Amino acid sequence: MFDSLSDRLGGVFDRLRGRGALTEADVRTAMREVRVALLEADVALPVARAFVERATEKAIGQDVLRSVTPGQQVVKIVHDELVEMLGPDTAELDLNKTPPAVVMLVGLQGSGKTTTTAKLAKMLRGKENKKVLMASLDVNRPAAQEQLATLGTQTEVATLPIVEGQQPVDIAKRALQSAKLQGHDVLMLDTAGRLHVDQALMDEMKAVADVANPAEILLVVDSLTGQDAVNVAERFSEQVPLTGVILTRMDGDARGGAALSMREVTGKPIKFAGMGEKLDAIEPFHPKRVAGRILGMGDVVSLVEKAAASIEQEDAERMAERLAKGKFDMNDLRAQLAQMRKMGGLGALAGMIPGLKKAQAAMASGAVDEKLLLRMDAMISSMTPEERAKPALMNAKRKRRVANGSGTTVQELNRLMKMHQEMATAMKKMKKMGGIKGMMAMLG
Ligand code: GDP
Repeated sequence: MFDSLSDRLGGVFDRLRGRGALTEADVRTAMREVRVALLEADVALPVARAFVERATEKAIGQDVLRSVTPGQQVVKIVHDELVEMLGPDTAELDLNKTPPAVVMLVGLQGSGKTTTTAKLAKMLRGKENKKVLMASLDVNRPAAQEQLATLGTQTEVATLPIVEGQQPVDIAKRALQSAKLQGHDVLMLDTAGRLHVDQALMDEMKAVADVANPAEILLVVDSLTGQDAVNVAERFSEQVPLTGVILTRMDGDARGGAALSMREVTGKPIKFAGMGEKLDAIEPFHPKRVAGRILGMGDVVSLVEKAAASIEQEDAERMAERLAKGKFDMNDLRAQLAQMRKMGGLGALAGMIPGLKKAQAAMASGAVDEKLLLRMDAMISSMTPEERAKPALMNAKRKRRVANGSGTTVQELNRLMKMHQEMATAMKKMKKMGGIKGMMAMLG
């Protein structure tokens, strides 16, 4: 899923990052390419158009073009727009109703409703320890109710006994009554599908919803159906009060655009993704992860995000300049430590910057806390400007003085110096790799 989109966007961004400075025209060209990539991935035209308009406006409207890394900033803007398009947060099922909370699944025939009903029931029973009853309202497709009963046996979830000839609204009423009597927490209603959206189907959905008053009405959409999925979603969301979308067959190699359009078209969050035929192949939908996967650059994005949040522009420029030269003295270490404190400790950053992990391991305790960062800062403060610029000047006598002056010990100071040494070496290596830009390009 998303492979070709990912490749296409990767190409656009490589070209962007390849240039140092960017002009407005560069950004506009890149955004046109983004739009083509989205359309080729089957994203609905109005969705792609609105997406690119918003991203372009942000990219040329802010100080992006004057920043140290304009290419990176543009990538981040596209990333953020993708997350926005997919829905900003992971959306949970809302089952906080007087039991039984009714979850109704709707969608076309073959979209994966019955399978998904069983998957969700199994998940709720297992992970959340809920008592679940499933009922099939599909009286059109022969053996649909039997199919659900079989899945019920496999997942050890109760199903409503089948009464031949009963119609959907009556089945729903009976299911509700049965769930109440037997103390079920959740009632899952698997509704009938059709090959195409038609009014009779919609009327049936509405009648069932009136009777069952569902906590959730989830539209099940096959992500392999491409543009057609968007039309289906539009029709359903016009007629039935949906609360969310479930995309099935996300394990397949569809171009993925339907998935990308779904939230925008229905205005409802994508709650789950079906990842296979097995009954535990269902996952909560994580917009950020999916966006990161599409852009193939989750790490860079979070790195840029964190950096942008706390590094002042000048600091960043100065640091970039020093790093480009492969230089790293105690003043640089001190600036880094201050940034780390702002960014929530070493742990959060260690995985992202080469060399940091090693430096962290070089320290006595694996867990670096705020206090330790402050002690390191105190040691550096106690050094003379000379010593800060050239730590090698520190002999045993001067080390004792610094330790005394900062209320620390010589052992601690030695560890700090070792860490500095490790980082300085890493920076030199990074310079060989082409500096920060080279590193970013490699990560991207
Ligand atoms: P319904 O007509 O909407 O109830 O669809 P079904 O639940 O009967 O599913 C139709 C087919 O799609 C079945 O063969 C399922 O095993 C398959 N299916 C459902 N969800 C997924 C999924 O997420 N991935 C894959 N690969 N197959 C799925």
